[in-house]
Amino acid sequence: MSNIRVCTKCDTAFTLRSTLDRETRCQTCRGSRHNRYSNQSNQRAKALEWMDEVNDRLTSLEKKLLALEEKVNEEDVESPVESLIDERLKYKSTEMQDWVEKKVLKLNGRILKLTEEVEKVKGLLLKKGGYES
Ligand SMILES: [Zn+2]
Repeated sequence: MSNIRVCTKCDTAFTLRSTLDRETRCQTCRGSRHNRYSNQSNQRAKALEWMDEVNDRLTSLEKKLLALEEKVNEEDVESPVESLIDERLKYKSTEMQDWVEKKVLKLNGRILKLTEEVEKVKGLLLKKGGYES
């Protein structure tokens, strides 16, 4: 029996340690056991770090969104008073309200996108079995 086998990953011939060696990959593709695992946990740590970052961004976006929504609500409450004030000011207020509403919509879109991204990464991590929520 030959002590040479062809790597299943890169098709390079490699030497077996013994005829009983069941390794199917060359030294390069195999890497050391230690490296393989530390590499995996590095990727996992990076993914989790990124998710934390996204979470922070979502939290700050949510805060901004709430503040903007409060502003919109305030404007609504003030509307009876508005009828008493100058037309120009009223127009400005409507303009402001439109602007805030547009901002809220934009933020909502971003939050949805970010949430989707987080779910995607979560799915990938779950597939790898590396993430417990
Ligand atoms: Zn190989």
